[in-house]
Amino acid sequence: MAQAQIIKTKVGIVGGGPAGLMLSHLLAKQGIDNLVVESRDHETIRNTHRAGILEAGSVKMLTDTGVDGRVLTEGDEHEGIDLRFNGESHPLDFKDLVDATVTLYAQNEVFVDLAAARKRDGGDVRYEAEVTEVLDLETTTPKFRFSDKDGAAFEVHCDILVGADGSRSFCRRAVTGEQDYKIEYPFAWFGILTEAPKSAPELIYANSPHGFALISQRSETVQRMYFQCDPAENVNDWSDDRIWAELQKRVDGPDGFQLKQGPIFDKTVLAFRSFVREPLSHGRMFLAGDAGHTVPPTGAKGLNLAFADVKVLFEAIDSFYATGSDALLEGYSDLALQRVWKAQNFSYWMTSMLHTREDASPFETKRALGELATVTGSRFGQQYLAESYTGWPHK
Ligand SMILES: Cc1cc2nc3c(=O)[nH]c(=O)nc-3n(C[C@H](O)[C@H](O)[C@H](O)COP(=O)(O)OP(=O)(O)OC[C@H]3O[C@@H](n4cnc5c(N)ncnc54)[C@H](O)[C@@H]3O)c2cc1C
Repeated sequence: MAQAQIIKTKVGIVGGGPAGLMLSHLLAKQGIDNLVVESRDHETIRNTHRAGILEAGSVKMLTDTGVDGRVLTEGDEHEGIDLRFNGESHPLDFKDLVDATVTLYAQNEVFVDLAAARKRDGGDVRYEAEVTEVLDLETTTPKFRFSDKDGAAFEVHCDILVGADGSRSFCRRAVTGEQDYKIEYPFAWFGILTEAPKSAPELIYANSPHGFALISQRSETVQRMYFQCDPAENVNDWSDDRIWAELQKRVDGPDGFQLKQGPIFDKTVLAFRSFVREPLSHGRMFLAGDAGHTVPPTGAKGLNLAFADVKVLFEAIDSFYATGSDALLEGYSDLALQRVWKAQNFSYWMTSMLHTREDASPFETKRALGELATVTGSRFGQQYLAESYTGWPHK
């Protein structure tokens, strides 16, 4: 077998999603040499539809650090959401409630901007290269191995190894015996992309006896919508007509609200769970983003948490190289987890309040409506939701 080629770098990053690429960008700006290894190809990542809502802090990270300003010109600023239940709309005005907004800017575009910035700045990002081994994590020279698309083998030697390799993280699974906190949900989301005009100016989060629905957007002509479904649902069993009937049922009400329909060109079933690994570090390996924690998408927190982790981790790595002290690296996990658990709470709360469970008793169903009425019925309730949704200040 051919000998693996050794690559030496300061920070070795596994995964080129938002967490990995943003960290690479920040480090490079500070002159800290790093390498990103990503298993998928550029086009596949660009065409994977996931997150859409960016907190103001995430938007700032893209613009203020010089990734790209496109989020400001092509993103769509949203000043609130609509909580719909009992067939009635309850608009929440974030701007008025907490003087904050969010921006609708698809994760694909975030990826395009980050990947372009790495390329523009001469970053070393290896696509189509899967990491299959991590080693020596408890030493001052952690390592990982990968092969590129032509089968050439490499071994990366670094000072700091970052696992930013998503919810099925190979890096995380390479370490056993740590504490994993998790819960599964008995439902998933059926997601569609449709060529249709916007049905409403803001996102609609709908609770109905038929289940949850989210009426979201992508652009003036393309819309993203989801409805709660069984995790075993097969997309091929769903014709466009059946999907529209299901979505409409979940937003129906005395106000006669009608979804604007169009051809559906993408259908997926998305399972989700709540998960946290503690701690987010092991020796010289640090987990960031979905590799360390995942949330149900209901609170729109995943990508934002990935960026928030990266901000804390970048400052710790920067301090390590500037001062030689690893005090901030040692504090990374505790500091990042403070925000992670707030986001876990919010995402769990939104999910349980808005989804319906087949085994729910009539009492539970009425109680959930009472909760929605409490939240929407007072400025304090609305502010609690608005503050969490738009994101707590970065530390
Ligand atoms: C339907 C849906 C809607 C969502 N909506 C929102 C939203 O509105 N707002 C929000 O903030 N978040 C949302 N999220 C969550 C968000 O998409 C994720 O939290 C985000 O992608 C996390 O970024 P990451 O960089 O940590 O992980 P990822 O984006 O998963 O990136 C990890 C990368 O690592 C690579 N990789 C994995 N294993 C290896 C390996 N062994 N070697 C090399 N590379 C590897 C993967 O190919 C991947 O590109 C949503 C998610 C879904 C599924």
